[in-house]
Amino acid sequence: MTLQTPMPETAAPLLEVRDLVKHHGQVRAVDGVSFHIRAGETVGLVGESGCGKSTLGRAIMGLAPLTSGEVRLDGAVISGLPYAQVRPLRKRMQMVFQDPYASLNPRRRVGQIIEEPLKVHGLGSAKARRAQVIELMARVGLPADAAGRFPHEFSGGQRQRVGIARALALSPALIVADEPVSALDVSVQAQVVNLMVRLQQEMGLSYLFISHDLAVVHYIADRILVMYLGKIVEVSDRARVWKQPLHPYTAGLLAAHPSPDPAGAHRPHLRIEGDMPSPTAPPPGCRFHTRCPFKVERCASEEPALRALNDGRSVACHLVEVSADGIAHAPTERTAAPIRSAEPALPLSPS
Ligand code: SF4
Repeated sequence: MTLQTPMPETAAPLLEVRDLVKHHGQVRAVDGVSFHIRAGETVGLVGESGCGKSTLGRAIMGLAPLTSGEVRLDGAVISGLPYAQVRPLRKRMQMVFQDPYASLNPRRRVGQIIEEPLKVHGLGSAKARRAQVIELMARVGLPADAAGRFPHEFSGGQRQRVGIARALALSPALIVADEPVSALDVSVQAQVVNLMVRLQQEMGLSYLFISHDLAVVHYIADRILVMYLGKIVEVSDRARVWKQPLHPYTAGLLAAHPSPDPAGAHRPHLRIEGDMPSPTAPPPGCRFHTRCPFKVERCASEEPALRALNDGRSVACHLVEVSADGIAHAPTERTAAPIRSAEPALPLSPS
């Protein structure tokens, strides 16, 4: 395993997604998403079940053809290329899935599962591959005798370690992790997330960490993308997404979590009513207007662009104002009448 040197800020991003659209028939799962990930960075992608985040992850990985848009790796377009051309590049991007049991072949031993990507890409002799499997197992905290055992002999957390070891086998630069801890007990979630943080530090990995749980994403991500009904509605750094969410939907996601520190204790509970509309017929104007407690007339007819603010954040909301001192302000009772409640908001549905 080689350590990768983080790229200077001016270099091309490791991953760049440009205006990605992915429709399945009538379903507009992803509807024009752009973002980038720099080397060594963790970008969190958060939103309710059905918002398109998993489809976006799969589209980036080339597991489903794009409807339009492009994906670049190290500045080179990798979307839409013939498989033979993409294959060597794909070594740089690997995926970790939500359900470690479903993603591991139950008839293969753990050692074979971890070795498989090396075999598929024809890397190393059998002896060298076996040595690498032992090293990978140690790296993710699996016991040395795990190689000869089957996935069903392990706990959910250990199975996810197998999935992570398999993803690391080809020394990728980027791991797309789709709800990697959602199927695990809360106590085990922390162990797996901490393992991912340690691996990142040791190997210079970048992550696209996809989750419905803003608390988990907040723990691991440097930057957070909030997705609603196929679009990115807010891009923020981890500290400010928690302390000062700008988009009402982000504030609603946060309301499902207790404030972690006294400074955030006065964060208003913003209740998001109702269900997400169907992605087959997204509402006109702002897609969130059917559930937004701040909506004004304009929201139902005019779609807000994802505006880049001068503090590095981006937000798609007509009512976010930037004051003369350059500070962005979320919609408040000054701009509309919010629904506030001392009751905890209904938890958002998990994926
Ligand atoms: Fe709410 Fe309007 Fe902002 Fe959309 S644009 S989030 S409906 S206030």
